[in-house]
Amino acid sequence: MDYAVARRRMVESQIVRRNITDKAVLDALLRTPRHLFVDEGFRPHAYSDASLPIGEKQTISQPFMVAAMTAALGLRGGERILEIGTGSGYQTAILSLLVSRVYTIERISSLASRARRVFDQLRLTNVNLKVGDGTVGWKDHAPFDGIIVTAGGPDVPTEFLDQLAVGAPLVVPVGPRDQQKLLRIVRTEDGTFSREELMDCRFVPLIGEKGWLNDNA
Ligand code: SAM
Repeated sequence: MDYAVARRRMVESQIVRRNITDKAVLDALLRTPRHLFVDEGFRPHAYSDASLPIGEKQTISQPFMVAAMTAALGLRGGERILEIGTGSGYQTAILSLLVSRVYTIERISSLASRARRVFDQLRLTNVNLKVGDGTVGWKDHAPFDGIIVTAGGPDVPTEFLDQLAVGAPLVVPVGPRDQQKLLRIVRTEDGTFSREELMDCRFVPLIGEKGWLNDNA
C-alpha cells in the first residue's frame, strides 16, 4: 500500500472537501504518517474516514476531527499548547509540526509508552508527555496559548480556563457520554470567556477528578 497516496486522498476527500482550508494544517496532515500510530492489523485502514481502536478501549480520532480541532486552535506558529488525552499520539504529532511545544497528558501508561516510541521514531523533540489525570491541566507549564481536549467530559473543568493565556482558545468536547458538543472557549482581555459551539461529536470519556469517575458505559 502506498501510504503517501492514501494520505493525499484522505486530505482531499475527507478534509478539504469538508471545508478545512488552513494550509499549515493540511500540510501537517500530509506530512504525518498516521499508519504508524495504529497497530499493524489496522494499517490498511489508517487513512479511512473513521476513528480506529488503539487498545485499552480507546481510539485514534477520525482524521476530520483531528483536522477540525487543530484548525479551531487558530495556530500561527510559536505557541505552547496543552493536549489532554495523548492516545495514539497522532494529534500530538500534528500539533508538534505547527507549534513550538506540545504538553500532552495521557492517563493510561501503556498508551503513553507506545506514543512516546512513535515520537522518538519520528524524532519529535518538542513534545513533553506525562502520564496522569489531565482533568486538572498542567499547572507547572501554564498559561498555555491553547488547550485541546480529545476526550469528552460532563463539564469544562475550571482548571482548563485558569490555565489559558489571554486570547487563547480551549477546544473541548462537553456533554453526555454518548454525544457531546465540541466547544471553543476563548479567554478575553477583560477576563471573561467567549463560548462557541462548533459541532456535534462523540468522544471516549474524559475520566478523572474533574471528569467522569469511571469508564462504565
Ligand atoms: N488525540 C488522540 C489520538 O489522536 O489518538 C485521541 C485519543 S482518545 C480519543 C482519548 C484519550 O484520552 C484516551 O487515550 C484516554 O485514555 C485519554 N484520557 C481520558 N481521560 C483522561 C484524563 N483525565 N487525562 C488524560 N488522558 C485521558
